[in-house]
Amino acid sequence: MSAADLDDFRQRCRTFLAEHATGMDVSEGDDPRAENALAAAKRFQGALVEAGLCGLTYPTKYGGQGLSAAHERVWREEAGTFPVMTRQLSISHGMALPMLNEYGSDEQRSTYQAKVIGAEEVWCQMFSEPGAGSDVASLQSRAIRDGDEWILNGQKVWTTLAHVCERGLIIARTDLDQPKHRGISMFILDMNAPGVEIRPIHQIDGGMRFNEVFFTDVRIPADHQIGPINEGWRLATAMLMYERVAIGGGQALGINHDRADLLIKEARRRGKLDDPVMRQELMKLYSAEVCQSLIGMQTRAALQAGKTPGPGGSLGKLAGANIAATYRGLSLGVVGAEGVAWESNSRWAMDALSTFASGIAGGTDQIQRNIIGERVLGLPREPSVDKDLPFRDLKVGTQLTGS
Ligand SMILES: Cc1cc2nc3c(=O)[nH]c(=O)nc-3n(C[C@H](O)[C@H](O)[C@H](O)COP(=O)(O)OP(=O)(O)OC[C@H]3O[C@@H](n4cnc5c(N)ncnc54)[C@H](O)[C@@H]3O)c2cc1C
Repeated sequence: MSAADLDDFRQRCRTFLAEHATGMDVSEGDDPRAENALAAAKRFQGALVEAGLCGLTYPTKYGGQGLSAAHERVWREEAGTFPVMTRQLSISHGMALPMLNEYGSDEQRSTYQAKVIGAEEVWCQMFSEPGAGSDVASLQSRAIRDGDEWILNGQKVWTTLAHVCERGLIIARTDLDQPKHRGISMFILDMNAPGVEIRPIHQIDGGMRFNEVFFTDVRIPADHQIGPINEGWRLATAMLMYERVAIGGGQALGINHDRADLLIKEARRRGKLDDPVMRQELMKLYSAEVCQSLIGMQTRAALQAGKTPGPGGSLGKLAGANIAATYRGLSLGVVGAEGVAWESNSRWAMDALSTFASGIAGGTDQIQRNIIGERVLGLPREPSVDKDLPFRDLKVGTQLTGS
């Protein structure tokens, strides 16, 4: 591949983005279930498929373009200068797709990969349960083998966009006699299968983008198990690493300081930029965003060199959550009462409310600190008294699991 090829490719990306990345219809303001924003993301992705610009580094036989990491980098550089059109696809593309690519059988990849790339199908992640969030290995949803199928019973919670997804990756317990991290398997689940019931959760910002999902005798074909039986924990950990990169690594390449820029502009507009304390706090936010961009660039470079994301992804994820919290406090200082007392759809109030999710989604800040301490810095591990006991003998939440 020559520099001229890459220049041509850059021009193709630019032309495409100028026409399609308009930022239209992607706002979730009056779209509590994010259905319109998802439809816009799907249209954008459909246009990418037609232009031969979708799934850049995935193999052509599975619906990708078979291009190099350098092409992906060029795309991200260009896309970073346009509005984000595909926020609703971040789980489907940032987490489910790399999992399918890495762990799916040839048959699963031929059946599904092109559909996920083109957003004909959108996939969700079903890990968390009541009583199994940070400690997701305590999950109690169970799949029992019955001939050529598995029968699934149980419940998931906080499943983002379950109501608009065609399929999801789910982890369920498949062997109660193994310790809690070992008797888990991962499956591809049809969200429209009989016995799947999806109920919205109402969020503090007025949205209803995530759900409770209940399973009653849901039948999963045996060939929809992904990865080896009872090794779902290994896959779940890999997916969580992809998640932290997707959340903390930034969509675009290069240095970003969008939040600081927004607040600097607003502080100037409101005549507050001469306040030395305000200037200092804005500078801290700016610096934190630059640091997060550098962490994101390092993580993306490792991914593009063919490395699977490791625990270092937690650094970017934690940095993002810290930035969100700093932004919340500072933005309320800049806009004053408008941030807490509003009549309709105040951007500042919505921003402030939604930033709380950053420190929870994809693993809480405390859990990221544990991971960084134990697996990046090599500090002693948190004590774990139950890791070698059969799951059947554990008490999880208020229930004895084997009963
Ligand atoms: C916006 C959003 C979207 C989400 N989307 C999805 C999704 O699509 N799919 C999905 O499966 N899940 C999803 N989640 C769920 C998310 O993964 C969990 O909320 C998260 O892992 C925390 O679990 P929990 O809510 O059960 O809290 P808990 O685990 O009960 O934690 C409660 C508190 O205890 C602390 N804590 C727990 N254990 C430790 C420890 N060992 N050391 C120190 N502190 C600890 C936590 O940090 C936290 O402050 C989403 C969450 C949010 C906010």
